[in-house]
Amino acid sequence: MSSCKHSVLVLLPDRKNVLRCQHCHLTIKADELGKSYCPECYEINGNKLFDFEEVAAENPGRARYRCEACGLIVESD
Ligand SMILES: [Zn+2]
Ligand SMILES: [Zn+2]
Repeated sequence: MSSCKHSVLVLLPDRKNVLRCQHCHLTIKADELGKSYCPECYEINGNKLFDFEEVAAENPGRARYRCEACGLIVESD
């Protein structure tokens, strides 16, 4: 085993940041959407709707970090 103490941890991007439109059920990444309206609803009926819900996470409540020194992925609650 390595002697790395994993002291340089970098937070990995959160995969649960996916939003679903409550009208057309389009799913889109939060950072892709930004602060914009649902592009699908806008295309269908011209309404600018902002009714999104967060999609359930694959690992709820877990943050994932990578050690910069050895590259190990660690999870924390
Ligand atoms: Zn390490
Ligand atoms: Zn929509």
